[in-house]
Amino acid sequence: MSEKKWPLWLPLRDDLTSLSPYGAPQVPAEATLNTNENPYAPSPELAQAIADRVHRVATTLNRYPDRDATVLRAALGKFINTLSGTNFTADSIWAANGSNEIIQSLFMAFGDRGALGFTPSYSMHPLIAKVVGVTWQDGGRRADFTLDTAKAITEISGKKPALTFVTTPNNPTGTLLKIGEIEELAKATAQVNGLLVVDEAYAEFSSEISAVTLIEKYPNVVVIRTMSKAFAFAGARVGYLVANPDVVDAMFLVRLPYHLSAITQAAAEVALEYQGELLGTVATLIDSRGKVIAELESMGLTVAPSSANFIIFSGFNSEPAQIWRQLLDRGVLIRDVGLLGHLRMTIGNEAENQKFIGALKEILQK
Ligand SMILES: *Cc1c(COP(=O)(O)O)cnc(C)c1O
Repeated sequence: MSEKKWPLWLPLRDDLTSLSPYGAPQVPAEATLNTNENPYAPSPELAQAIADRVHRVATTLNRYPDRDATVLRAALGKFINTLSGTNFTADSIWAANGSNEIIQSLFMAFGDRGALGFTPSYSMHPLIAKVVGVTWQDGGRRADFTLDTAKAITEISGKKPALTFVTTPNNPTGTLLKIGEIEELAKATAQVNGLLVVDEAYAEFSSEISAVTLIEKYPNVVVIRTMSKAFAFAGARVGYLVANPDVVDAMFLVRLPYHLSAITQAAAEVALEYQGELLGTVATLIDSRGKVIAELESMGLTVAPSSANFIIFSGFNSEPAQIWRQLLDRGVLIRDVGLLGHLRMTIGNEAENQKFIGALKEILQK
């Protein structure tokens, strides 16, 4: 989007005038492979169960919801405990309207000494920081997009940020941090009295141990998770945080009263009861990821190793924006993440993946 000219009468904050709103293009396509959603829709049984529960809640919508979302937070804790063998209760969990709200709350509560992240990574971390007036600093990654932890530790020690963000598996690159590396970063951030925020939006697609297992030993580790990706529940807007209870207590200070609607809480509680179904597609997506990567490599393209439900590829001769457009002309919507020479594609269902591969072959052979 080109930069908007704001009218002079509008008292917009100076530091916002140069920003562009978050905007993955929302255009109709036969294969929508641009925002890392799970392509598999809820089953009719789950849809009915959500409708039933929401119907029940509808009879009490004259009342505010549970401000503290205690039932949902306890259920999320149990879910994490099942995955990671941990022992969290509701007081270690915070829930919000997508993990983006969690990220915003973290900045509002802890932003004083600024934040540090390692690019290329999730573009919303710096954007949300700027919007709430938190200073953001970019550290780098290696050319192959892996994180040089020794260099990262030097940057942490030098800049002493209140918040250090790492995303693993990383978006948009799909690359992974080992739990040992996260532990090193946890120590380095503790030494500067900072929090290490580990964004695990795609953790369910990776076989690496979750950073939630570090929280007991390192109270400065904060893990962000979401129901939007593997959990196939993006439309409901539920993200959550796993952390030391003191971190959660700080979230209470900055949250808006009744921020999570009764309908959202109810829908998420039902979804968690159906976790077997919702996460049942993860293995299929991992399998499809392998197939798509093999196809792209057989076309002579380079694909970064991915532990997520998306891949980035390079090795084509045209501009990414041009390939992106040619794919869209063929009904396939992927993502131009603004990385020189690269495009990102979300793994879809079998038909969508085939459509993507077919269209790309056609484009590259021209
Ligand atoms: C998608 C994504 C999120 C945000 O998800 P919500 O839908 O707001 O829960 C957070 N972090 C990363 C790295 C993501 O890719």
